[in-house]
Amino acid sequence: MAGFFDDPFAKRGFLDTEVFHMASSITSSSPRIFELSESLMTQAMRLFPGGVNSPVRAFGGVGGSPVVMQRAEGPYLWDVDGNRYIDYVGSWGPAILGHAHPAVVRAVQETAAKGLSFGTPNALENQLAEKVMTLMPHLERIRFVNSGTEAALSAIRLARAVTGREKLIKFEGCYHGHVDALLLKAGSGATTLGMPNSAGVPPSTVAGTLLAPFNDLEAVGALFERYPDEIAGVLIEPVAGNMGCVLPKPGFLQGLRAFCDKFGALLVFDEVMTGFRVALGGATARFGVTPDITVLGKIIGGGLPVGAYGATHAVMKWVSPEGPMYQAGTLSGNPVAMAAGLATLEALSQPGVFERAEQASAQLLHGLTLACCEAGIAASGTSLGAMAGLFFTGNCVENYTDALKSDTKRFARFFHGLLQSGAYLPPSQFEAFFLSAAHSPEVIEETLSMARCVLATLHD
Ligand code: PLP
Repeated sequence: MAGFFDDPFAKRGFLDTEVFHMASSITSSSPRIFELSESLMTQAMRLFPGGVNSPVRAFGGVGGSPVVMQRAEGPYLWDVDGNRYIDYVGSWGPAILGHAHPAVVRAVQETAAKGLSFGTPNALENQLAEKVMTLMPHLERIRFVNSGTEAALSAIRLARAVTGREKLIKFEGCYHGHVDALLLKAGSGATTLGMPNSAGVPPSTVAGTLLAPFNDLEAVGALFERYPDEIAGVLIEPVAGNMGCVLPKPGFLQGLRAFCDKFGALLVFDEVMTGFRVALGGATARFGVTPDITVLGKIIGGGLPVGAYGATHAVMKWVSPEGPMYQAGTLSGNPVAMAAGLATLEALSQPGVFERAEQASAQLLHGLTLACCEAGIAASGTSLGAMAGLFFTGNCVENYTDALKSDTKRFARFFHGLLQSGAYLPPSQFEAFFLSAAHSPEVIEETLSMARCVLATLHD
């Protein structure tokens, strides 16, 4: 197997074929029991809204009771009842090396032993920033925050500060965290739960947010023609991962760049999901289009809470304390989170590691589309870098309207079939699958054989 001996999980035996065969026989046995999960969820329902601390975890898009996980290693999750799953959620993106990667765990343990947070500058901030800028050389300065939401919120404030304008263009089905101004036709949990707009967001807060369909340059052009001097920025997930996985059409991102240049607006790429995932240099490197501001999260924290936004020196000099745009954070640049992010990016940029994750994604998607075809089930799929998506619709999905035409009931049956067999997909038709370098060809093949069995039962 290519790269097997470079893989720390392989050295620790996670990819051992005996384990693999043993696990296969376990997953094909009698129905799984979720007794402890169910009782913990009964308790959680009393403690948290919907029993969860982030909505999409609630299984609202697929029905049933969430599975409570206890442990994760490599490509696997184990729930509190002892059931094992091949994981395609990867903590919603950060786990690109696989779970509990030894180098990341070691970095966290060693750093934590020296103190958890100082509220002062620390050397690890510099090291992670240098690493990020090496992988994304268009960034001349960055600012660390604690989540993707915070990073997106700060990025739009920055675009408004620099341009002195108020309006923003956002795309239907894209999600940028729970930022008030951006909770309009938002993807991810908002779409999954059928509430793409949120209560509690005053109309005045979203009055400056203009919507366009993803992949529709004409609509963007019409907005710029209508408000030529008022648009501060165009904010986009360059690959939309929060309505499934939807690629930009050739020329779309370039067209956005040209509109921003023509009308003096800033192009903001939200690479919270795509950064270090669709390519080591993110969507910017993959598509050769350079944004003015980049929003980062997920992988940059290696599983701990981190976000960041970055740009050229000329743009970042607007940020406090150098400039007039205020933004701050008690735990920003926290050493333990910095250490996790740095260890993750260092391991990910070793030769062959990113490529393993990318190949896993391509293998999964190829196998799933073939399996759907053989089962006579209409589906359309995409894989780019280490993310993928499968819509249960025969039509090509280019935007939010197309995505919403998918057969969500069939997806729910597919999800539960795989859950019973031993694979954990994102619990929503409108989320991307997250692959990792720990998903070996054998692990993917095991998933595909489960998927073939489930798909054979999905006819109406
Ligand atoms: N932007 C994108 C593209 C995301 O996918 C997400 C979360 O899924 C966010 C922003 C928000 O990040 P966080 O959940 O860390 O606040």
